[in-house]
Amino acid sequence: MKYKVDTPIQYLKGVGPEAAKVFKNLGVETVEDLLTLAPKRYVGKNLIKDLNLNEESRTVGRIINTGMRRTSRGLIFAVQLSDGTGTINLSFFNYSKKATSNFKWNKLIEVEGIVSFWGRNLQIVNPTVTFSPPDEEKFLPIYPLSQRLTHKYIRKVVRTAFANDMKISETLPSHILEKEKLPSREEAIHNLHFPQELKFANLARQRLEFEEVFWFQILLALRKKKIKKQGIKFEKGSELARQFYETLRHNQSDKKSKSSKKNGEFKLTNAQRRVIWEIYKDMESDSKMNRLLQGDVGSGKTIIAILSMLKAVESGYQAVLMAPTEVLAEQHYFKLSRYLPKIGIKLGLLIGSLSAQDKRKVKEEIKNGKAQIIIGTHALIESSVTFKNLGFIVIDEQHKFGVVQRLKLAKKSKSPDILVLTATPIPRSLALTIYGDLDISIIDEMPPGVGEICTKWIYANKIQEAWKLVKSELKQGRQCYIVYPVIDESEKLDLKAAQEEYEKLSTGIFKDYEVGLLHGRLNRKEKAKVMKDFSSGKLNILIATTVIEVGIDIPNASCMVIEHAERFGLSQLHQLRGRLRRGKTKSHCILISPKKLGGIAKERLNAIEKEEDGFKLAEKDLELRGAGEFLGTRQHGLPELKLANIMDTQLLSRVRNITFKIIENDPRLEKPENKIIANTVNYRYREKFEFLEGG
Ligand code: ADP
Ligand code: MG
Repeated sequence: MKYKVDTPIQYLKGVGPEAAKVFKNLGVETVEDLLTLAPKRYVGKNLIKDLNLNEESRTVGRIINTGMRRTSRGLIFAVQLSDGTGTINLSFFNYSKKATSNFKWNKLIEVEGIVSFWGRNLQIVNPTVTFSPPDEEKFLPIYPLSQRLTHKYIRKVVRTAFANDMKISETLPSHILEKEKLPSREEAIHNLHFPQELKFANLARQRLEFEEVFWFQILLALRKKKIKKQGIKFEKGSELARQFYETLRHNQSDKKSKSSKKNGEFKLTNAQRRVIWEIYKDMESDSKMNRLLQGDVGSGKTIIAILSMLKAVESGYQAVLMAPTEVLAEQHYFKLSRYLPKIGIKLGLLIGSLSAQDKRKVKEEIKNGKAQIIIGTHALIESSVTFKNLGFIVIDEQHKFGVVQRLKLAKKSKSPDILVLTATPIPRSLALTIYGDLDISIIDEMPPGVGEICTKWIYANKIQEAWKLVKSELKQGRQCYIVYPVIDESEKLDLKAAQEEYEKLSTGIFKDYEVGLLHGRLNRKEKAKVMKDFSSGKLNILIATTVIEVGIDIPNASCMVIEHAERFGLSQLHQLRGRLRRGKTKSHCILISPKKLGGIAKERLNAIEKEEDGFKLAEKDLELRGAGEFLGTRQHGLPELKLANIMDTQLLSRVRNITFKIIENDPRLEKPENKIIANTVNYRYREKFEFLEGG
C-alpha cells in the first residue's frame, strides 16, 4: 500500500490499532503527525573511549566475549564489546535464550543506553541493540515516549513511512523560505529524523516551528481581516459622554465628607483618556471594532465601558454589557442607574433569575428599542432575545466567557463593535497570539487615591491574629470580607463551608457585629438584599464564596480574610483582594492556609504576598502553570502548537509581522506567489476557518 500524509497511523506496516492508540497519546494520529513528531534530542555515535558516564549514549563495536553472570539481582547475560579504542560491558537482565544466540563472536553491533560503571569497567544495562547497524545514521532521534513505544520502535515506524517514497508537499511560498533562509518542508522533515549533522536537525526544527506558527497567525490574520470588513460608522461627537462625565463629577463632590476631593476633581487617568481615544477612533471608522481592554483590578475599566456605550447610543444604537455573574450584572445595573437615567438613558436588566413577567417585559423593551443600554448575563444570548438595533457590545471579564459566546451575542446584530474587558492580564506577547484578531488597549495606571493593600499569608493555627485585625478594622467603622472556597461541607475535601462558618462566627467571635452570608445558591432577592445591606454599611462583615470575585465595588471594605487560600488560583486571589483597592486607606488581605502545602501552592501564596502588580502576577502564573493550563480549556478555535513554544515571543512576533503583512497586501490570497497559502488554508484549515468565521 502507498501511504499518504493523511493516512491514519494504524495502517502503517507494523503499527495496527493497539500501537495506534499509544501513538495517540503522543499526539500522533496520521502519518503527517508522525513525520512532524519532534525528537527531544539526538544521540550521536561515540567511540568507546569517548563515552561519558551517566549519559544516554550510542556506540558501535564487535562482540569479543559473552557469558552468564550470577549477581544479587539474579542471572544476567553479559556481553563484552570492543571498538579498538576500549571495551564496554553490556548487561541484560531480561533476556530470552533465543535472543542470546544472536550475539555471535566478532559480530558488529550498535548499542544505545545510559553508561554506568560496573566494577572499574564501563557498562550499559539493558541497552537497545541494533544488529548490522546502518553506517550512515550518525545521529539517532530520541523521541518523547509513551508507554511501551520504544525509540527503536518509533524509529522503525518512521523509517517505514519514509521508505514509502511518500510525497511531502511544500506548504510555504518560496519567497518566504528564501527570505527566512529555511529549508523546504521535505528536507526539514527528513532532517528532523535523520540528520547528518545536528545543525541540520536544528534548521529542520526551526522550519517546522516557523510553519506551525505561520498557520496559526495566518488564520488569525484572516479572521481579523474578515471581522474588519464590515462595521458601523458611529457618529463623531460625545455629547452624552460629556453629560455623564458631568453627573459623575457632581456625584463625586456630593461625597466630600468621605473624601478630600474638591468639587469637580474627578478626572480620567491618562491611561483612561488614551484608551477611550483609541476606542472612539475605532468606533468612528467604518471598520468593525474588536478590541480587548486589559487593566488590572480597580484600574477603572467600567467607566471606559460606559463612555463607549454612550457613544453608540448617541448614534441611535443599542448597547449591551454582558457580565459573567448575576451579582456583577446587578451591580453594574445598580451603578449605571445612579447616573444614566439622569441624562435620559433608559436601562434594561436581563438575568436568568428574573420573574417570567419581568423577563418578558425587558425582552419587549429590548426588541422595541425602548431599552438603550442593556445589562445582563449570558441570559442575553438566548434565542428569545432580539434587539432592535444592537450596535455595541461590552463583555466584562472576558476570561469567564468563551469565544463561542462572544460570537453568539455578536450574531444578534449585523456587525456590532465589540469591546472585551479583562482584569486577568496576559503578557502582551501571548495576548497577541491568542487574541491576535483583537486590537489591544491597556490601562496601565491606577486611579489616584487608590489605597495600598498589605497582603499577609499565615497558617490556620494562627487564625486568631486574623480575627484580631478584623476586629480592629471594624472598630474604625470599616467593613470586612471573609471568603471561603465552597458553600457546603464537602465530604471528600476537608474544607470549611461558608454556611457553617457563618453560624459559628456570627454567634461567636463576631456576635456584636452584623454578619451577612453571600453564596451562589441564594436566590436573586436574597443576594440583592445581602449586597445592598453590605454596601449601605448595615452589615459589617460579609462572609462569601467566590461570587464576590469579580467586580464588586465597596469602598468602605478594608479587610479581607481568605480561608483555604491554597485552593484558589493566582489570578483568582488577585481578583479577590482587588475588591479592597476600592477604598483610599490602607487595606489588609490575610491568606489562611494549612501548614503542609505542595510546592506550587506555596509558590503561589508567596507570589501573591509579595507582588501587587497584576501583570507581573500573570507572568508568574504562566510560569507556574504553563501556557496550556493558563489559557484553560477556552476554545480559541486555532490550531494547537506542538513544536513551537507559545512563549517564544521572538518567533511569534516575527511570524506575526510576516503573516499580517501578507494578508494586508493580499487579503484574498489571490497573488500567484501566495496561491500555495490559499491552497493550504482551503485544504487543511477550512473547517477551522469556518468555525472562526462563527458560521
Ligand atoms: P475595574 O477595572 O476593576 O473594573 P472599576 O471600573 O470598577 O475597576 O473602577 C474601580 C473604582 O475606581 C471605582 O470605584 C471607580 O469609580 C473608580 N475610578 C475609576 N476611574 C477613576 C478615576 N479616573 N479617578 C478616580 N476614581 C476612579
Ligand atoms: Mg470591572
